[in-house]
Amino acid sequence: MTARNRAALLEFNAGTERARRAYNSEQHRFAPKPPKPEPTCCNFGHDYTPANTYMHSSGRRICRECGRLRAQAARDRKKALR
Ligand SMILES: [Zn+2]
Repeated sequence: MTARNRAALLEFNAGTERARRAYNSEQHRFAPKPPKPEPTCCNFGHDYTPANTYMHSSGRRICRECGRLRAQAARDRKKALR
């Protein structure tokens, strides 16, 4: 190892140590994030009502209206191909 590399390494370590201290200091500590509000509608604006919602096995809520529209769109595409 050359003296130059050694100096660079020491500088790097000093830098990470500074960063770690800054990160752990009160001033830089991130405030805990507030819990995300549960969305009341899907990305397309359909309400998540019990009738319009079913649970995916992964725990995600699925919008039935979107599923219906996707199925309809798929049918339309097939029709257009014919
Ligand atoms: Zn939807």
